[in-house]
Amino acid sequence: MSIQSVNPANGVLLRSFTPLTDQALLEKISLAQDAFAHYGEVPLSHRALCMRKLADLLERETADLAALITAEMGKPVAQARSEIVKCASVCRYYADHAERILAPEPIDIGSSDAYVRWYPLGVVLAVMPWNFPFWQVFRFLAPALMAGNAGLLKHASNVPQCAIAIEELVRRAGFPRGTFQTLLIHVSQVETVLADPRVVAATVTGSELAGRAIAAQAGWLIKKTVLELGGSDPFIVMPSAEFDLAVAAAVRARCINSGQSCIAAKRVLVAESIYDSFAAGFVAAMEALRVGDPMREDTQIGPLATAAQVRDLDAQVQAAVRAGGRVLTGGKRVPGAGNYYPPTVLADVPRTADVCREELFGPVALLFRVCDIDDAISLANDTPFGLAASAWTRSQAEQRRLAAELRCGAVFINEVVASDPRLPFGGIKRSGYGRELSAAGMREFLNAKTVVVAEPVSAKPPAL
Ligand code: NAP
Repeated sequence: MSIQSVNPANGVLLRSFTPLTDQALLEKISLAQDAFAHYGEVPLSHRALCMRKLADLLERETADLAALITAEMGKPVAQARSEIVKCASVCRYYADHAERILAPEPIDIGSSDAYVRWYPLGVVLAVMPWNFPFWQVFRFLAPALMAGNAGLLKHASNVPQCAIAIEELVRRAGFPRGTFQTLLIHVSQVETVLADPRVVAATVTGSELAGRAIAAQAGWLIKKTVLELGGSDPFIVMPSAEFDLAVAAAVRARCINSGQSCIAAKRVLVAESIYDSFAAGFVAAMEALRVGDPMREDTQIGPLATAAQVRDLDAQVQAAVRAGGRVLTGGKRVPGAGNYYPPTVLADVPRTADVCREELFGPVALLFRVCDIDDAISLANDTPFGLAASAWTRSQAEQRRLAAELRCGAVFINEVVASDPRLPFGGIKRSGYGRELSAAGMREFLNAKTVVVAEPVSAKPPAL
């Protein structure tokens, strides 16, 4: 079966690709292994030069690359441009900071010299999703290549053109041949790649299903994994919040990338005393979003990436309604061509309903009343996921409690959750494990080698 690139705005087939044969796949793994063996000799300063060239290429070709993202997965084009620019920023971050992050760390243990040195692990497989088809890859690629690893990308099957474009950019930036390759393969071939002894680790960004499958196999093979999986982040609004800012931020946080973001605010928890006015403002702002052709500059919500996404999201909305939820706006598929779903707000969904524990991957918000900060924290934590949380309050006591008691990988107070090259990114619980970005992300695929150098016994003064 071919790998197809289909425009989600109109269903038109853009291109199709024949997946690699198993033989061709093994050749690419060999190339990666050879590249890794030599890449360690390339000085850090030269890697940084290539990384900056990569950033330059991204910045110079932003418009074309963004148009490719939009054509393949429907992201509104202005947001697609921001994604490309962000990729350039992560390249520059690691070009600038790799030397500091990779520097040996002396440890005082008394009589002997001791330090930690960082060494690359080898060829790392990256299994990536379509929702940020460049950013998800670059936040692996930039630290991995700066650290001296080699990368193999198995991208989501609906964004093959983005996957090819990324390999091409890396090649043009001057990285040695084979240090980063795209594998146009089916899911069923991932097992072969991971089982290959030349592949030493894997990073997965995607659904729980993908994470489970890969982590189970990697666990058996004793290969390191990092998992960045789903989320159902809470967005908490307490009475002291800056009201208008919080309403606008909730809409932005729910609807970024047409709602298809792991860190989107999927559950909006609002204090009882401001709930009615917040709900009215939130619904009005959701209804005001411009839904339409993602190639238009002023479009805020584009089509969802695939027809299956629309079908699954709509089934979740209908299940929420059957469970007792009320549709405040939206709630029905947009008829006609393209994978469009309208911005939707659901209220009064019983907290025990299954949908409250699922991820809603589209512009659909669940709105909840909470009676106080205890109730807000308890409901926020009542989820199998633990990626991030955004909370809005001017009370310092509440801020301290939210930072300490929310069980997730990141808490943003009076700010929308966002990834940033300088900040560790990742989750707990079923959102996965491990971190990306910052020094923590770079070190996931490094061997922290402990070295202890004692003076020879004979050179020491005799013990008294
Ligand atoms: P997905 O269906 O799991 O796909 C992600 C990648 O995994 C694709 O390359 C996919 O290949 C592959 N894959 C799927 N099943 C697999 C299996 N059994 N074995 C090996 N590989 C497999 O997820 P998605 O729908 O593309 O992405 C949406 C999900 O990603 C959401 O849950 C979202 O929250 C999560 N996400 C998490 C983060 C984070 O940082 N935590 C960031 C972005 C997205 P095919 O495309 O060929 O099926």
